[in-house]
This record gives sequence, structure tokens and C-alpha cells, in this order.
Amino acid sequence: MEVSIKHSAKLLEQANHIVLTTHIHPDGDAMGSLLALYAYLLAQGKCVKMLLDDEVPRSFKFLVDWDKIEGPQDMVHEVDLLVILDASDLERIGKVKEVVKAPMLNIDHHVSNLKFADYWYIDSQAAATGELIYQLLIEVDAVITGNMAAALFTAIATDCGFFRYANTSAQTLKIASELVTLGAKPHMISESLDTKPRAVIEILPKVLETLEVIDCGANGQIAMLTLSQDILANFKDETEGFINYPRNIEGVEIAIMFKETGERSIRVSLRSKSVDVSALALAFGGGGHARAAGCTITEPLSKAKALIIDAAKRQMAKTAGVNHAQRDN
Ligand code: AMP
Ligand code: MN
Ligand code: MN
Repeated sequence: MEVSIKHSAKLLEQANHIVLTTHIHPDGDAMGSLLALYAYLLAQGKCVKMLLDDEVPRSFKFLVDWDKIEGPQDMVHEVDLLVILDASDLERIGKVKEVVKAPMLNIDHHVSNLKFADYWYIDSQAAATGELIYQLLIEVDAVITGNMAAALFTAIATDCGFFRYANTSAQTLKIASELVTLGAKPHMISESLDTKPRAVIEILPKVLETLEVIDCGANGQIAMLTLSQDILANFKDETEGFINYPRNIEGVEIAIMFKETGERSIRVSLRSKSVDVSALALAFGGGGHARAAGCTITEPLSKAKALIIDAAKRQMAKTAGVNHAQRDN
């Protein structure tokens, strides 16, 4: 059932043993929301555990308590509530769903959310799940420490491209401002996120060599990067930001990055200027937001590319059709 922020707060208050989790391939929103809510619940004297079916990416290890995050090895018994953050479908939490059997509360902002949980609070207008966690903490009059503010600022800033993307609202900036008042240091957070091992910078020429641009006439262009297994072997999850190169090319409507994580496992990232790429990703079992979405395709690289390019072209034509109809009315 759908719940309000107030009801979500009540569910947390009534629970004693709480497990928090978020999506695999965690991003800043996943990590920051998880760690901020963890800090609050711990301060409330709750018995709380963070489980994640993935590694914590190197770039988020500046956030306090990242090392308290555990893998879903064994069954966790007698859990009152499983809180699922920033995940739009149950598959996204991986094995955590197998080791915890408890009522689920899903707090999320994906327009593609499948409403799979027992209780859900979804606000697709929010730029990040971090905004929702902030609202929840305000609702319960929580003491927001400097570390919690840093985690939430990281969550929000990373999901809206540091306040540059279309999801950045007045509310996003207001919350960010309040988090800075509470001790978040934007320059330190952005520096931590931007600092990379030298090898990641040195691989850039190889990555940019894979750039392909398809001209779709009046509908605009599709620009793509393809990271084959041998390119990826040099650096694991350090591809954040690469998609901005095709995305920033003049005339490009849809940017795509293909990552060959296995022989028949292709992770696809999609970005757009106006086309709804979440619908496109959803059609392949993924999800996301209107202008940033993703999916995984279990086909060889060339087949996956052909499927996605074809779907992207169709989505662009559809959007152009709608725009024409609106203009003609
Ligand atoms: P990414 O391209 O990985 O940065 O993801 C962009 C957006 O799409 C994020 O909001 C992700 O949560 C979402 N997303 C990416 N991959 C998937 C997937 N396999 N299933 C559902 N949502 C996804
Ligand atoms: Mn996320
Ligand atoms: Mn998010």
C-alpha cells in the first residue's frame, strides 16, 4: 500500500530490528540515503543493519560508516522491517531479498517504480531518494549531524549532476542549502567524488575511440560509447561520467553507453535531452527516470547494441510524432 512520509516514519518507529538496503551498482543516492538513514536509526537505539549485494565503490568510501555495510551472506532472522532505498524493483536488491523475510518499505523516486513492496513512498518529482530521506528526518525532528548532512548532500548532488540536470528543483536547492548549513561541505564532497586513480584518466583515449554517432535526421542524433570486456578489465566501476561525453555533443538527443560486463551481459546506460528513456529501459526489464535510465541485456554485445539502437530510434520517432501533434493542435 502507498504510505505518506508520516506513515513511513511510524513504520520505522514501531520496528526494532531493521535492515536497510539499496540497489546493486550503487550510486551516490543509494549510498548517501542508506548511510544517513542508518545514522538516524542507530541514534534512535534501533538494532539496524545495512546489507548490500555489491561492493561499495571506491569513490564513496569518504562517507562515514560505509565499512559497516555487509554482504547478504546468511539468513537474517527476526527482522521487523526491510527498508529498500532508491530501488524501483525487487530484482535491484539482488540476494538481500533472499536472506531477509520481513515486511518491506520502499522509499524511492523512480518514475518506473513497480510498487512491489508492502509499503511504498514514491515521489518521482524528487531529484533523489536523498530528498525524501531528508524530509523524513525533518518529519521526525531528527538531529542531523554533519556526517548525515554530507551523506544526504552526496545523495542529492550526484543524482542531479550537481544541480545541473532537469530534475533540479527549487526544493532540491533548498534542501541542499539546509544541508550545507548543517555541515555538508560541497567542495570536499565534489573533490572526493572527482578524484580518480590515474589509470581511469589514462584509459579515456581508448574509451573515446569507441564513439559512434548515428544521424536520425530531424529527430536528432544518437551517440554511443562501447566499453568492451578488455577495456573494463583495467578499471572496475570507474565509468561514472563517461556518458557525459556523448551526451554533451551538439545535436545529440540520446546518449548510450554499453558495458560488456560478461560474454552475454551488457549493461546499458541511457541519457536524453527530451525523449523518455525510462520507458525504453523498462521495455528491456530495466528502469530509471525520463532523462536517465538503464537496463541489462543478456545477449552478445552486437545483438544488444542492435536491439537498443532500434528501440532508441523508435522512441525518438514517437516523441517527434507527439511533439508534432501537440504543435498542430
Ligand atoms: P546509470 O546509467 O547506471 O547511471 O542509471 C541511470 C538510472 O537508471 C538510475 O536511476 C538507475 O537507478 C536506473 N537504472 C540503471 N540500470 C537499471 C536497471 N537494470 N534496472 C532498473 N533501473 C536501472
Ligand atoms: Mn540510484
Ligand atoms: Mn536515485
